[in-house]
Amino acid sequence: MSVSTTISLAKFLTKLKNLLKDFLSQDQILDQEIDRFLYETDATSLFKNQAAMVLLPNNTNEVAKIIQAINIINLEIKEFKQENIFKPEAKNLSTINFVARGAGTGLSGGAIGKESSVIISLARLNKLISYDAFNRTAVVETGLVNAHLSAHTKSQKLHFSPDPSSQEACTIGGNIAENAGGIHCYKHGLTSDQVLGLEIVTAQGQIEYLGEFHAGFKNSRLDLARFFVGSEGTFGIATKALVKLQPIPESFITMQISFDSIAEATKFISAVIKAAFRPTALELIDSGAIEAVKAAYQLNLAPKTKAIVLLELDGNNSEIVEEAKLIREEILINFQILDLKTTQDQNERKFLWKVRKGTVAAFGQIAPFWYLYDAVVPRSKIPEAMREIEKISDKYKLKLATVAHAADGNLHPNFLYDPDKDPEVIERIHQASHEIMQLCIQLGGVLSGEHGIGLEKKEYMTFMFSSQELELMYSIRKIFDPDVISNPDKIFPIRICKEC
Ligand SMILES: Cc1cc2nc3c(=O)[nH]c(=O)nc-3n(C[C@H](O)[C@H](O)[C@H](O)COP(=O)(O)OP(=O)(O)OC[C@H]3O[C@@H](n4cnc5c(N)ncnc54)[C@H](O)[C@@H]3O)c2cc1C
Repeated sequence: MSVSTTISLAKFLTKLKNLLKDFLSQDQILDQEIDRFLYETDATSLFKNQAAMVLLPNNTNEVAKIIQAINIINLEIKEFKQENIFKPEAKNLSTINFVARGAGTGLSGGAIGKESSVIISLARLNKLISYDAFNRTAVVETGLVNAHLSAHTKSQKLHFSPDPSSQEACTIGGNIAENAGGIHCYKHGLTSDQVLGLEIVTAQGQIEYLGEFHAGFKNSRLDLARFFVGSEGTFGIATKALVKLQPIPESFITMQISFDSIAEATKFISAVIKAAFRPTALELIDSGAIEAVKAAYQLNLAPKTKAIVLLELDGNNSEIVEEAKLIREEILINFQILDLKTTQDQNERKFLWKVRKGTVAAFGQIAPFWYLYDAVVPRSKIPEAMREIEKISDKYKLKLATVAHAADGNLHPNFLYDPDKDPEVIERIHQASHEIMQLCIQLGGVLSGEHGIGLEKKEYMTFMFSSQELELMYSIRKIFDPDVISNPDKIFPIRICKEC
């Protein structure tokens, strides 16, 4: 941006701030260097950019008024540009846009703004408004942390079932925007399966209701609430949600099975699914990740363990005891395993999942940074994909550790790195990621399992979708947000999004 354009933008941002001061207090408007620095990225270590300011509304009305104020200033910007069409300070001046932010745990750069962005944090919209144990539903403000909802409803033996590993921090709004999954989603479904209705603020600042927000029952209209799920903040801001609550299963059986190869572990996973069992979780951990968790959690594993499968069954106790017996006696018997631990003890179970969900924390003992990639292939292609990913990682001299929601073919290769010791490493990670994405598409996979496209993968959209398909998606986005001011720059490649 040229100096004169920067000066023009600053002038309009000051006007916006003056409008905002009419209804927001000082502590709700953060625009100091330190604030902008704190919000410059999400959990994606490779992307960062500072927005103009960060706003902390207390309720839906304030969100709506903020967006209305942005629209007022944008009209002035458009007039200014028309009146000064040949002047450099007007030529490249963009309108002001907004970016919703939950907890900033996103892994595709979705909550990152730019110089002309206002970050609208949902952190203060964090209330459970009500829940109905009879209809198994809850109405929440979308800044509510995922795990806090289940903590509130535990006494009724109900929970919000999507369980991303980040669930102690991430918000339900972020889950909705990314259609988040989690370890137990293979059986219980993704966020889209749990949303019945939404209150949203549109890009024009109107409050609208999608789906069955008031009634909580299905009917035959277009299901716009589920359509909104996965839109990554580009359709406006979700401020309240009516979500389903699921019964907490009566019993669990957790198995930790050690194998001497990934190939053997994934054959076992496929055999379990082919035999029509429906475990609630089927997780795979490779040798790189085993090295990290073994040291961090003092795990006692069989020597030569190269892959661990965590399998969990949930439901009626006698039924899952029978299922576990069948898995052991009819499936596992055909495989070379190094070790099997089976537990129904709650503390042991918690520990096993703490180790899996804490893999990322364990990486900290190996390197100060990690980059977690989201890749998907058909389940039968997991061994081939993991072999090739290892080759790509070796080619670019990267330290690799992979975990996978294997039942869904959803791989998470992690690159552990230290840019101080290896300044070129980030460029090599980008190159490796590019090759991994091409590999997954060749193997019949898709671009993302659960972390979204965001900034990270928007240029890869052309690997998978034709120009016509992208144009169609973009035209739908523009129905919700005609001026492209709600989280621009995300999802669509630059050649499709002319406004980005
Ligand atoms: C250690 C770790 C483990 C993870 N494990 C998983 C996992 O198992 N499964 C999984 O799916 N993800 C996982 N994630 C990714 C991340 O936690 C999820 O994508 C989560 O849903 C993001 O929620 P958030 O509140 O942090 O959203 P943010 O990062 O703040 O935002 C994410 C996107 O949502 C948009 N957004 C946020 N709130 C709203 C709203 N109210 N209305 C409209 N748009 C909004 C933002 O603009 C942005 O585009 C993990 C992340 C980490 C760091």
